[in-house]
Amino acid sequence: MRKPIIAGNWKMNKTPEEAAELRRALVPAVKDATCDVVVCVPAVCFGAVKAAAEGSNIRLGAQNVHFAPSGAYTGELSVGMLKACGVEYVVIGHSERRQYFGETDKTVNLRVKAAVAGGLIPILCVGELKDERESGYTDAIVEYQTRMALSGLTAEQVTNVVIAYEPVWAIGTGLTATDEQANETIGVIRKAIGRLYGAAVADAVRIQYGGSMNPGNVKGLMAQPEIDGGLIGGASLKAPDFTAVVRYDA
Ligand code: PEP
Repeated sequence: MRKPIIAGNWKMNKTPEEAAELRRALVPAVKDATCDVVVCVPAVCFGAVKAAAEGSNIRLGAQNVHFAPSGAYTGELSVGMLKACGVEYVVIGHSERRQYFGETDKTVNLRVKAAVAGGLIPILCVGELKDERESGYTDAIVEYQTRMALSGLTAEQVTNVVIAYEPVWAIGTGLTATDEQANETIGVIRKAIGRLYGAAVADAVRIQYGGSMNPGNVKGLMAQPEIDGGLIGGASLKAPDFTAVVRYDA
């Protein structure tokens, strides 16, 4: 049985002071969650979130990582730096990074390999654009992105990666893939992993859905057999909404 994992992606939102609110608002509300709970926050909030979540079941995540251990990469953060701040998970290949910051399948792969080698758990994002879905290329796109991103990892390492299937047209738009669409495409990703790394890995790897997941649609999505959790943007910013998503089965 795969343990579901629900991760908030705060994107470029919240100051350390706002993040500290977590202790009062989120920590008690999600303490009995049956899924893993992660918040992927801006780097300036690592300290505040770490302190606020101390002793709780909330794990700390980052939103990107550089692949070099150190060096002349102004503005970047290494795996070692994230780990020193208590980060355990890192979002890699989010569509906003692909769209606005020149992220490619190649750099996604470099980041995934560095994260895994250094002991961080990647939350690897894959997903198709609207016209790719409309043209019937969804399966080919998600298979290709997944294969490229995981290239060079062993089967054992892949087991520990979390994949987020995020149709780009559903991110921040209020449009959600239907339960069936999300389930079907995640099934395609799982089958591809099975072909590449074997049935046991495909069976064990956790694949989330992301794209306007919220308290209103989480139950239906989480009832799908292939969906092992969610990557939550907008609805992770308000503690009551994120709590309702995390407690989808309560
Ligand atoms: C995301 O940022 O990964 C995301 C899914 O955002 P939203 O929930 O706002 O669509």
